[in-house]
Amino acid sequence: MRRAIYPGSFDPVTFGHLDIIKRSSKLFDEIIVGVLNNSQKNALFSIDERVNMIKELTREYPNVRVDSFEGLLVDYAKQVDASIIIRGLRAVTDFEYELQIAQTNHVQYQNLETVFLTTSLNYSYLSSTIVREFASHGGDISRFVPAEIIPLIEDKYNRK
Ligand code: ADP
Repeated sequence: MRRAIYPGSFDPVTFGHLDIIKRSSKLFDEIIVGVLNNSQKNALFSIDERVNMIKELTREYPNVRVDSFEGLLVDYAKQVDASIIIRGLRAVTDFEYELQIAQTNHVQYQNLETVFLTTSLNYSYLSSTIVREFASHGGDISRFVPAEIIPLIEDKYNRK
């Protein structure tokens, strides 16, 4: 059983994330999308909102489940008995940080391997930060996120 965790902030989830989820669901038996509950970060969406959005948008994949976690990824991986971490690589700028984290996690937990998927060319520029930035100025985000979640994002900025 190859159980993999795809961890991240997903604040909010984008087409880039969904592309990685779709592709990794074909590579592994089970994918757990792990939404990181990081109290240090001032998030736009609550953990429950993020988990629910991703659940709705990944309903078509029977082997994908969505969960949240706090603390160290290695501890979470042990807890859910996962041996693979999936990360997306967009550009060289992602590389140095991701390499360091992957090596640290491997030192901490030898059975854990990190697998990198290169981003699809059409989403290589895309990040949750870009989505928030555009949405906060009333920009068009229809190329960045699925139509279902656009009103939820816009709502956050209208209320502020
Ligand atoms: P984190 O705060 O952990 O970087 P993110 O939600 O920003 O969380 O990203 C989660 C994962 O998804 C990371 O591995 C990141 O590289 C990857 N990712 C983010 N945006 C894209 C994209 N446009 N295409 C492919 N992978 C992406």
